[in-house]
Amino acid sequence: MCQLQTVKHTVPADKTLASMSPRELKGMLPEELEHVAASIDLEPYRGRQIAQWIYGYGVRSFDAMTNLSKAHRRMLSERATILSLDEAEVVTDPSGQATKYLFELSDGRRVESVLMAEGDRRTLCVSSQVGCPLDCTFCATGKMGLIRNLTAGEIVDQVVVARRHLGEVGEDLTNVVLMGMGEPLLNLPEVSRAIRIMNLDYGPAISRRRITLSTAGHVPGIEELTRNGPHVMLAVSLNATTDAFRNKIMPINRRWSISVLLEAVKGYQRAFGRYVTFEYVLLAGQNDSVEHARALVDLIRDIPCKVNVIPWNPIDGEAFGRPSEQRIEAFVETIAAAQMTAIVRYSKGTDITAGCGQLYQASPGVERR
Ligand code: SF4
Repeated sequence: MCQLQTVKHTVPADKTLASMSPRELKGMLPEELEHVAASIDLEPYRGRQIAQWIYGYGVRSFDAMTNLSKAHRRMLSERATILSLDEAEVVTDPSGQATKYLFELSDGRRVESVLMAEGDRRTLCVSSQVGCPLDCTFCATGKMGLIRNLTAGEIVDQVVVARRHLGEVGEDLTNVVLMGMGEPLLNLPEVSRAIRIMNLDYGPAISRRRITLSTAGHVPGIEELTRNGPHVMLAVSLNATTDAFRNKIMPINRRWSISVLLEAVKGYQRAFGRYVTFEYVLLAGQNDSVEHARALVDLIRDIPCKVNVIPWNPIDGEAFGRPSEQRIEAFVETIAAAQMTAIVRYSKGTDITAGCGQLYQASPGVERR
Protein backbone atom coordinates (compact mmCIF):
# COMPACT_ATOMS: atom_id res chain seq x y z
CA MET A 1 0.00 0.00 0.00
CA CYS A 2 1.29 3.40 -0.88
CA GLN A 3 2.40 5.32 2.17
CA LEU A 4 2.76 8.88 1.12
CA GLN A 5 4.59 10.84 3.73
CA THR A 6 3.74 14.38 4.64
CA VAL A 7 6.80 16.55 4.27
CA LYS A 8 6.74 19.90 5.98
CA HIS A 9 7.98 22.66 3.72
CA THR A 10 9.23 25.86 5.18
CA VAL A 11 9.32 28.87 2.93
CA PRO A 12 12.71 30.45 2.45
CA ALA A 13 12.63 34.19 2.97
CA ASP A 14 13.89 34.80 -0.58
CA LYS A 15 10.84 33.10 -2.09
CA THR A 16 8.78 36.22 -1.37
CA LEU A 17 8.92 39.43 -3.33
CA ALA A 18 10.29 41.41 -0.40
CA SER A 19 13.64 42.02 -2.05
CA MET A 20 13.98 44.26 -5.07
CA SER A 21 15.53 41.67 -7.46
CA PRO A 22 12.94 39.89 -9.66
CA ARG A 23 12.02 36.42 -8.42
CA GLU A 24 11.39 33.46 -10.70
CA LEU A 25 7.99 32.00 -9.90
CA LYS A 26 8.09 28.86 -12.02
CA GLY A 27 9.32 26.09 -9.78
CA MET A 28 7.73 27.56 -6.64
CA LEU A 29 5.33 25.38 -4.70
CA PRO A 30 1.80 26.65 -3.97
CA GLU A 31 2.64 27.48 -0.35
CA GLU A 32 5.58 29.55 -1.57
CA LEU A 33 3.36 31.34 -4.05
CA GLU A 34 0.98 32.08 -1.16
CA HIS A 35 3.83 33.95 0.50
CA VAL A 36 4.50 35.75 -2.76
CA ALA A 37 0.85 36.79 -2.86
CA ALA A 38 0.95 37.92 0.77
CA SER A 39 4.06 40.01 0.10
CA ILE A 40 2.06 42.21 -2.31
CA ASP A 41 -0.92 42.35 0.07
CA LEU A 42 -2.99 39.69 -1.64
CA GLU A 43 -4.86 37.03 0.30
CA PRO A 44 -2.81 33.81 0.50
CA TYR A 45 -5.31 31.84 -1.62
CA ARG A 46 -4.34 34.08 -4.52
CA GLY A 47 -1.03 32.20 -4.51
CA ARG A 48 -2.90 29.10 -5.58
CA GLN A 49 -4.59 31.06 -8.34
CA ILE A 50 -1.16 32.16 -9.55
CA ALA A 51 -0.03 28.51 -9.45
CA GLN A 52 -3.05 27.57 -11.56
CA TRP A 53 -2.23 30.22 -14.14
CA ILE A 54 1.41 29.23 -14.36
CA TYR A 55 1.20 25.44 -14.13
CA GLY A 56 -2.37 24.67 -15.15
CA TYR A 57 -3.01 27.18 -17.93
CA GLY A 58 0.65 27.64 -18.82
CA VAL A 59 0.44 31.42 -19.18
CA ARG A 60 3.66 33.25 -19.89
CA SER A 61 2.69 36.74 -18.79
CA PHE A 62 1.07 38.30 -15.76
CA ASP A 63 -1.38 40.16 -18.04
CA ALA A 64 -3.18 36.87 -18.64
CA MET A 65 -3.99 36.47 -14.92
CA THR A 66 -7.37 38.09 -15.29
CA ASN A 67 -8.68 37.23 -11.83
CA LEU A 68 -6.02 39.51 -10.32
CA SER A 69 -6.45 43.27 -10.38
CA LYS A 70 -4.43 45.23 -12.94
CA ALA A 71 -2.51 46.87 -10.10
CA HIS A 72 -1.48 43.50 -8.66
CA ARG A 73 -0.56 42.16 -12.09
CA ARG A 74 1.67 45.18 -12.55
CA MET A 75 3.24 44.69 -9.12
CA LEU A 76 3.98 41.08 -9.98
CA SER A 77 5.47 41.93 -13.35
CA GLU A 78 7.76 44.50 -11.71
CA ARG A 79 8.99 42.03 -9.10
CA ALA A 80 8.79 38.55 -10.60
CA THR A 81 9.30 36.57 -13.77
CA ILE A 82 7.72 33.46 -15.29
CA LEU A 83 10.30 31.17 -16.87
CA SER A 84 9.39 30.00 -20.35
CA LEU A 85 11.73 27.63 -22.16
CA ASP A 86 12.73 28.70 -25.63
CA GLU A 87 11.58 26.09 -28.15
CA ALA A 88 14.64 26.14 -30.37
CA GLU A 89 13.41 23.24 -32.50
CA VAL A 90 10.36 20.99 -32.57
CA VAL A 91 10.57 17.94 -34.85
CA THR A 92 7.93 15.28 -35.36
CA ASP A 93 8.88 11.89 -36.77
CA PRO A 94 7.26 10.66 -40.01
CA SER A 95 4.86 8.37 -38.12
CA GLY A 96 3.58 11.31 -36.07
CA GLN A 97 4.06 9.29 -32.90
CA ALA A 98 7.06 11.11 -31.49
CA THR A 99 7.87 14.79 -31.25
CA LYS A 100 11.27 15.93 -30.05
CA TYR A 101 11.55 19.33 -28.40
CA LEU A 102 14.90 21.03 -28.28
CA PHE A 103 14.81 23.68 -25.57
CA GLU A 104 17.33 26.43 -25.14
CA LEU A 105 17.81 27.54 -21.54
CA SER A 106 18.55 31.07 -20.38
CA ASP A 107 22.30 30.31 -20.22
CA GLY A 108 22.35 28.95 -23.78
CA ARG A 109 22.50 25.30 -22.66
CA ARG A 110 20.18 22.91 -24.45
CA VAL A 111 18.04 19.98 -23.36
CA GLU A 112 15.56 17.74 -25.09
CA SER A 113 12.17 16.22 -24.29
CA VAL A 114 10.27 13.67 -26.31
CA LEU A 115 6.48 13.49 -26.54
CA MET A 116 5.19 10.05 -27.50
CA ALA A 117 1.71 9.03 -28.61
CA GLU A 118 0.41 5.51 -28.12
CA GLY A 119 -3.33 4.85 -28.18
CA ASP A 120 -4.88 7.26 -25.68
CA ARG A 121 -1.58 7.78 -23.91
CA ARG A 122 0.44 10.91 -24.35
CA THR A 123 3.73 10.48 -22.55
CA LEU A 124 6.44 13.07 -22.15
CA CYS A 125 10.02 11.94 -21.57
CA VAL A 126 11.50 14.74 -19.47
CA SER A 127 15.13 15.75 -18.88
CA SER A 128 16.41 16.47 -15.37
CA GLN A 129 20.01 17.54 -16.09
CA VAL A 130 21.96 19.13 -18.91
CA GLY A 131 24.09 16.14 -19.85
CA CYS A 132 24.76 13.38 -17.34
CA PRO A 133 27.81 12.41 -15.31
CA LEU A 134 27.20 8.65 -15.33
CA ASP A 135 28.66 7.86 -18.74
CA CYS A 136 26.74 4.69 -19.60
CA THR A 137 28.49 3.48 -22.73
CA PHE A 138 25.31 2.85 -24.75
CA CYS A 139 23.92 6.36 -24.20
CA ALA A 140 24.58 9.56 -26.14
CA THR A 141 23.73 11.82 -23.18
CA GLY A 142 26.49 10.21 -21.14
CA LYS A 143 29.00 11.45 -23.74
CA MET A 144 28.20 15.03 -22.74
CA GLY A 145 29.27 14.70 -19.12
CA LEU A 146 27.34 16.73 -16.55
CA ILE A 147 26.97 20.37 -17.42
CA ARG A 148 24.43 21.33 -14.78
CA ASN A 149 21.27 20.34 -12.98
CA LEU A 150 17.97 21.70 -14.24
CA THR A 151 15.87 23.77 -11.86
CA ALA A 152 12.40 22.60 -10.89
CA GLY A 153 10.99 25.36 -13.10
CA GLU A 154 12.98 24.12 -16.10
CA ILE A 155 11.80 20.56 -15.49
CA VAL A 156 8.16 21.56 -15.05
CA ASP A 157 8.17 23.86 -18.06
CA GLN A 158 8.90 20.90 -20.36
CA VAL A 159 5.54 19.54 -19.17
CA VAL A 160 3.81 22.90 -19.49
CA VAL A 161 4.99 23.32 -23.11
CA ALA A 162 3.93 19.79 -24.10
CA ARG A 163 0.49 20.34 -22.54
CA ARG A 164 0.15 23.63 -24.39
CA HIS A 165 0.88 21.92 -27.71
CA LEU A 166 -1.43 19.00 -26.94
CA GLY A 167 -4.18 21.41 -25.86
CA GLU A 168 -4.08 23.00 -29.31
CA VAL A 169 -5.29 19.69 -30.81
CA GLY A 170 -7.75 18.91 -28.00
CA GLU A 171 -5.50 16.43 -26.19
CA ASP A 172 -3.77 16.35 -22.83
CA LEU A 173 -0.69 14.80 -21.34
CA THR A 174 -1.38 11.55 -19.48
CA ASN A 175 2.05 10.32 -18.38
CA VAL A 176 5.50 11.63 -17.55
CA VAL A 177 8.70 9.61 -17.55
CA LEU A 178 11.85 11.08 -16.07
CA MET A 179 14.03 9.25 -18.57
CA GLY A 180 15.38 12.06 -20.69
CA MET A 181 18.80 13.60 -20.25
CA GLY A 182 20.34 13.10 -16.84
CA GLU A 183 20.09 10.95 -13.73
CA PRO A 184 17.07 12.29 -11.81
CA LEU A 185 18.29 10.99 -8.45
CA LEU A 186 21.38 13.19 -8.72
CA ASN A 187 19.06 16.19 -8.82
CA LEU A 188 16.49 14.93 -6.37
CA PRO A 189 15.56 18.17 -4.55
CA GLU A 190 14.59 19.88 -7.82
CA VAL A 191 13.05 16.71 -9.27
CA SER A 192 10.93 16.19 -6.13
CA ARG A 193 9.73 19.76 -6.27
CA ALA A 194 8.89 19.36 -9.97
CA ILE A 195 6.95 16.16 -9.28
CA ARG A 196 4.90 17.90 -6.57
CA ILE A 197 4.02 20.59 -9.09
CA MET A 198 3.17 18.09 -11.88
CA ASN A 199 0.87 16.49 -9.34
CA LEU A 200 -1.20 19.59 -8.54
CA ASP A 201 -4.83 18.97 -9.39
CA TYR A 202 -5.17 22.58 -10.56
CA GLY A 203 -1.86 22.22 -12.43
CA PRO A 204 -0.81 19.44 -14.82
CA ALA A 205 -2.66 16.95 -12.56
CA ILE A 206 -0.45 13.99 -13.44
CA SER A 207 -0.93 11.44 -10.68
CA ARG A 208 2.12 9.83 -9.08
CA ARG A 209 1.18 6.50 -10.59
CA ARG A 210 1.54 8.08 -14.00
CA ILE A 211 4.96 9.52 -13.28
CA THR A 212 7.92 7.18 -13.68
CA LEU A 213 11.38 8.03 -12.40
CA SER A 214 14.12 6.07 -14.12
CA THR A 215 17.48 5.59 -12.43
CA ALA A 216 20.74 4.02 -13.53
CA GLY A 217 21.05 2.69 -9.98
CA HIS A 218 21.90 5.53 -7.62
CA VAL A 219 21.36 3.63 -4.38
CA PRO A 220 21.38 6.56 -1.88
CA GLY A 221 18.82 8.28 -4.09
CA ILE A 222 16.56 5.21 -4.09
CA GLU A 223 16.88 5.00 -0.28
CA GLU A 224 16.01 8.68 0.02
CA LEU A 225 12.95 8.13 -2.20
CA THR A 226 11.94 5.19 0.00
CA ARG A 227 12.17 7.31 3.15
CA ASN A 228 10.70 10.58 1.98
CA GLY A 229 9.16 10.08 -1.45
CA PRO A 230 7.84 11.28 -3.76
CA HIS A 231 6.56 7.74 -4.26
CA VAL A 232 6.29 7.65 -8.01
CA MET A 233 6.71 4.60 -10.23
CA LEU A 234 10.32 3.46 -10.22
CA ALA A 235 12.21 2.18 -13.26
CA VAL A 236 15.73 0.81 -12.95
CA SER A 237 18.03 0.65 -15.93
CA LEU A 238 19.67 -2.73 -15.28
CA ASN A 239 20.99 -3.95 -18.65
CA ALA A 240 23.27 -6.67 -17.29
CA THR A 241 23.18 -9.81 -15.22
CA THR A 242 26.76 -9.78 -13.91
CA ASP A 243 28.75 -7.09 -12.17
CA ALA A 244 31.63 -7.66 -14.57
CA PHE A 245 29.52 -6.68 -17.59
CA ARG A 246 27.56 -3.97 -15.82
CA ASN A 247 30.83 -2.40 -14.61
CA LYS A 248 31.84 -2.20 -18.25
CA ILE A 249 28.71 -0.57 -19.63
CA MET A 250 27.50 1.38 -16.56
CA PRO A 251 30.35 2.77 -14.45
CA ILE A 252 27.91 3.50 -11.59
CA ASN A 253 27.91 -0.25 -10.93
CA ARG A 254 31.50 -0.02 -9.66
CA ARG A 255 30.11 2.04 -6.79
CA TRP A 256 26.87 0.12 -6.17
CA SER A 257 26.86 -3.47 -7.38
CA ILE A 258 23.81 -5.32 -8.73
CA SER A 259 23.07 -7.02 -5.38
CA VAL A 260 23.28 -3.73 -3.45
CA LEU A 261 21.09 -2.06 -6.05
CA LEU A 262 18.46 -4.80 -5.95
CA GLU A 263 18.28 -4.62 -2.14
CA ALA A 264 17.54 -0.90 -2.38
CA VAL A 265 14.92 -1.56 -5.07
CA LYS A 266 13.24 -4.18 -2.87
CA GLY A 267 13.08 -1.63 -0.05
CA TYR A 268 11.38 0.89 -2.31
CA GLN A 269 9.00 -1.70 -3.69
CA ARG A 270 7.98 -2.79 -0.17
CA ALA A 271 7.43 0.81 0.97
CA PHE A 272 5.43 1.80 -2.08
CA GLY A 273 3.71 -1.51 -2.86
CA ARG A 274 3.72 -1.08 -6.62
CA TYR A 275 5.61 -3.06 -9.18
CA VAL A 276 9.01 -1.86 -10.34
CA THR A 277 10.10 -1.71 -13.97
CA PHE A 278 13.49 -3.03 -15.00
CA GLU A 279 14.81 -1.64 -18.24
CA TYR A 280 17.12 -3.88 -20.18
CA VAL A 281 18.82 -2.49 -23.27
CA LEU A 282 19.62 -5.40 -25.57
CA LEU A 283 23.11 -5.18 -27.05
CA ALA A 284 23.72 -7.72 -29.80
CA GLY A 285 26.03 -10.52 -28.75
CA GLN A 286 26.71 -8.94 -25.34
CA ASN A 287 23.69 -9.39 -23.08
CA ASP A 288 20.96 -10.74 -25.35
CA SER A 289 21.15 -14.55 -25.16
CA VAL A 290 18.60 -16.95 -23.67
CA GLU A 291 21.14 -17.62 -20.89
CA HIS A 292 21.22 -13.91 -20.11
CA ALA A 293 17.42 -13.90 -19.95
CA ARG A 294 17.47 -16.83 -17.50
CA ALA A 295 20.08 -15.10 -15.37
CA LEU A 296 17.94 -11.97 -15.35
CA VAL A 297 14.93 -13.94 -14.17
CA ASP A 298 17.01 -15.43 -11.33
CA LEU A 299 18.09 -11.98 -10.22
CA ILE A 300 14.69 -10.32 -10.08
CA ARG A 301 12.11 -13.07 -9.69
CA ASP A 302 11.33 -12.18 -6.05
CA ILE A 303 10.60 -8.52 -6.87
CA PRO A 304 7.11 -7.65 -8.18
CA CYS A 305 8.17 -6.18 -11.48
CA LYS A 306 7.99 -6.08 -15.24
CA VAL A 307 10.84 -5.93 -17.71
CA ASN A 308 11.03 -3.46 -20.54
CA VAL A 309 13.32 -4.89 -23.18
CA ILE A 310 14.76 -2.11 -25.35
CA PRO A 311 16.67 -3.08 -28.50
CA TRP A 312 19.66 -0.75 -28.59
CA ASN A 313 19.23 2.45 -30.59
CA PRO A 314 22.34 3.36 -32.58
CA ILE A 315 24.41 6.37 -31.52
CA ASP A 316 27.48 7.77 -33.25
CA GLY A 317 30.81 6.27 -32.37
CA GLU A 318 29.64 3.23 -30.40
CA ALA A 319 30.38 -0.26 -31.59
CA PHE A 320 27.26 -1.92 -30.23
CA GLY A 321 24.79 -3.68 -32.46
CA ARG A 322 21.06 -4.15 -32.41
CA PRO A 323 20.01 -7.81 -31.94
CA SER A 324 18.05 -9.68 -34.57
CA GLU A 325 14.29 -10.05 -34.19
CA GLN A 326 14.74 -13.76 -33.41
CA ARG A 327 17.10 -13.03 -30.53
CA ILE A 328 14.80 -10.33 -29.16
CA GLU A 329 11.87 -12.72 -29.33
CA ALA A 330 13.78 -15.59 -27.69
CA PHE A 331 14.92 -13.26 -24.89
CA VAL A 332 11.39 -12.07 -24.16
CA GLU A 333 9.88 -15.55 -24.39
CA THR A 334 12.38 -16.87 -21.86
CA ILE A 335 11.28 -14.24 -19.35
CA ALA A 336 7.61 -14.88 -20.11
CA ALA A 337 8.14 -18.63 -19.60
CA ALA A 338 9.13 -17.80 -16.00
CA GLN A 339 5.68 -16.21 -15.52
CA MET A 340 7.14 -12.72 -15.57
CA THR A 341 6.05 -9.81 -17.72
CA ALA A 342 8.43 -8.67 -20.42
CA ILE A 343 7.55 -6.13 -23.07
CA VAL A 344 9.68 -5.14 -26.04
CA ARG A 345 9.84 -1.38 -26.24
CA TYR A 346 10.75 -0.23 -29.67
CA SER A 347 11.72 3.35 -29.01
CA LYS A 348 9.62 5.90 -30.77
CA GLY A 349 11.35 8.67 -32.63
CA THR A 350 14.57 6.92 -33.64
CA ASP A 351 14.24 8.58 -37.07
CA ILE A 352 14.69 11.92 -35.33
CA THR A 353 17.28 10.62 -32.77
CA ALA A 354 14.65 10.84 -30.05
CA GLY A 355 14.87 7.18 -29.03
CA CYS A 356 16.07 5.91 -25.64
CA GLY A 357 19.75 6.73 -25.19
CA GLN A 358 19.94 8.97 -28.26
CA LEU A 359 19.39 12.36 -26.66
CA TYR A 360 22.45 14.52 -27.09
CA GLN A 361 22.96 18.21 -27.46
CA ALA A 362 26.19 20.03 -28.01
CA SER A 363 26.53 22.80 -25.49
CA PRO A 364 28.93 25.73 -25.67
CA GLY A 365 32.39 24.71 -24.55
CA VAL A 366 31.58 21.01 -24.25
CA GLU A 367 33.19 18.40 -26.43
CA ARG A 368 31.67 15.03 -27.12
CA ARG A 369 33.77 12.38 -25.33
S1 SF4 B 1 21.54 6.13 -19.60
FE1 SF4 B 1 20.74 7.67 -18.21
S2 SF4 B 1 22.16 7.57 -16.46
FE2 SF4 B 1 23.21 6.54 -18.15
S3 SF4 B 1 24.45 8.18 -19.13
FE3 SF4 B 1 22.47 8.08 -20.19
S4 SF4 B 1 21.21 9.66 -19.17
FE4 SF4 B 1 22.92 9.17 -17.81
